[in-house]
Order: sequence, then structure tokens, then C-alpha cells
Amino acid sequence: MRARVRDALVHYFDRHARDLPFRRTKDPYAIWVSEVMAQQTRIETVVPYFERFVARFPTVEALASASEDEVLAAFSGLGYYRRARLLHAGAKEVVARHGGEVPRDPAARRALPGVGRYTAGAIGSIAFDLPEPIVDGNVARVLARLHRIELPLGTAAMEARLWAEAEALVEGERPGDLNQALMELGATICTPRGPRCDLCPIAFACEARAHGDVERLPVPKKRKAPTEKRLLVVVATQGPDDDPSVLLTKREGSLFGGLHALPTIERTGDDVRDVRAALRELGVVTRRRPTFHGGFVHVLSHLALEVEVASVAPISAAEGLVRRSAIAEVGLSTLTRRALETAGFLSPPPRRSGRRAPR
Ligand code: SF4
Repeated sequence: MRARVRDALVHYFDRHARDLPFRRTKDPYAIWVSEVMAQQTRIETVVPYFERFVARFPTVEALASASEDEVLAAFSGLGYYRRARLLHAGAKEVVARHGGEVPRDPAARRALPGVGRYTAGAIGSIAFDLPEPIVDGNVARVLARLHRIELPLGTAAMEARLWAEAEALVEGERPGDLNQALMELGATICTPRGPRCDLCPIAFACEARAHGDVERLPVPKKRKAPTEKRLLVVVATQGPDDDPSVLLTKREGSLFGGLHALPTIERTGDDVRDVRAALRELGVVTRRRPTFHGGFVHVLSHLALEVEVASVAPISAAEGLVRRSAIAEVGLSTLTRRALETAGFLSPPPRRSGRRAPR
């Protein structure tokens, strides 16, 4: 049965794979970049970022010699910036220890910063044609349904079972296409809600379908409710109307670390005092009255941030002023960009029209 499932998946991939720029290459570096970008991010969002990234940093050496600011700016808007810093560190290590060649050896690949079992398997199977398994969210859903696995996602027992199933399935010819077929199936047909089993190439072997358990599986992981925080974000500007400058600071720590951010403070309830306190932390003292622009809710995986936006202008000269015309050159989180748009410093991007690709 496993051989039939394997054949059906590879055949399905041959006929239905979406044409994506990173599917037209066997360059392990490009595949590495695409896999890092695709973590937690929809594939149609990744495509333009990927194309810009490999145009700007076409080789491991080019990425390794770039500054952290340049790398974060290229990820600006994608979120989860830790992965960009790890990719950068990984590229430096490939240059320093492996002569600029992404290692073919699985253990050496997995020793690179930010390269876990999934990313190593994707590079190994797609670029080097090695029978290395991958399990991401899409693959986990397909395998959990195919084998009707009742264990909750995220548990050690479930992880072990999924990797064992993926490992058994990837043995054979064209391991990269087999892995991509599993991911593609999960992204386009075996979707979390409303899977289209009537179109599925492996429906003949699917245990969940046979038992009417498709919608119930996989068993979800229990999630903790996100912590709520109220923030005040200050857009402090100076300079001419046609190209004003805004005060930004480089963040430390794990949340948005390395990115440029606006002065931010946790709300105490006193509007004017909060604005002045946020600016004072950056050595800026102002007697100007702030303008309040309302706000938005920004949800991260573990945090729900209620963000209020205030602006002050003009402020006196300060370190960290960035001109509006140069803002694309610094890494901004989506939260910072939204705050700049809310205060009218940046225009919101034009709305995209047209059909969305699946996934
Ligand atoms: S038959 Fe349905 S549930 Fe089973 S693998 Fe295919 S799409 Fe998923």
C-alpha cells in the first residue's frame, strides 16, 4: 500500500504542482531561503519576498557578507524576524566552515544555526535527492488523516509517530518531489477545513476518510490564551513636510529584536505623561502636546497587543531619526509599519485585487 501511496503522490505532483520560483531550482541555498521564509507564512506571500531576497543576495557569500540591517530589511513585513537572523548566522557559518557550500551531509546541515529537522530535510530531499523526511503543519495533517492518528498535535508521541511515517514514505525515488507532493496536498486539497477528498490522489488509502473522521483529525494541540498588553506607540517627527524624519530605535531582546521600532511604552492610563515617558527613554524631551490617532489590535502567537498611536511634532534633533524616503532601508516590524500608517506618516499599501492562490 505504501508504494501505491508514494506513486500516487509523485504522479499528482507531476501534474498539479504550482509553478513557484523556488520549485525551478535545485540550488540548496535558494531552497533554504524559501523554506525559512515559508515557516509560518502563506506561500503566495513568500513568493515576492523570495524573489527580491535572492536577487539582492544571490549566493550564500552575498548573504554572509551583508549587514544584519540589510537582511532584516529584506524580511521586513514577513514577521518572525528571529528566522532572518538565524538564516544570516547560518550563511556565515556555511562560508566559515564549509567553503560557501551548503553541506550535503545531513548532520552538518542540521548543525547550522536555525536549521532544524524540517529545513534540513527539505534541503536534503529537494536539492540533494536524499531520502530525508519532512513534517510541517501541512504534512502532519495529511499523515494524521491518512493513518488516522488520534494523538494530539505537538505532543512528543505525535511528533515521533509523524516523523516515523514520513521517514517510511520518503524512502525511494524522487524524495524531494514526494515531500513537496505531501506539502502541496496539505496546502491545496487536504486543508484544515473542508478538505476536497473527492480530488485527493491518495483517498483510496485514507483511513480517516474510510471511518468518517476527516473533519475531526488531526486532534488539535491545546493552546494557551495569549497574554494581553496595552501599548502606546509614539510617532515623533521633525523636518520638511515632503520628507520628514521619524524617531526610531533599534530593539534588543527576542520580541522584534534587531528591528527598528517607534518609542513604545506600556500604558499607564495618563496619555500625555505616557508619551513623554516613551520619548524620555530615548533622551528626547518635548513640551509639545501629542495628537492621538486611535489604534489597532496586533496579535502575535503569544501576545495580543492593544496598540494606541500618538504623534508629536516637531521634536528637537535626536539620534535615531530616519527620513521617510529612507524608511525602506531599515527593518520594520508589521506593528511599527501599522503605527506609522495610523499616524499618517506612511501611506497604507494599495489593496491587492484578484484571486488568491490556495493556501
Ligand atoms: S482523502 Fe481527504 S482526508 Fe484523506 S488525505 Fe485525502 S484529502 Fe486528506
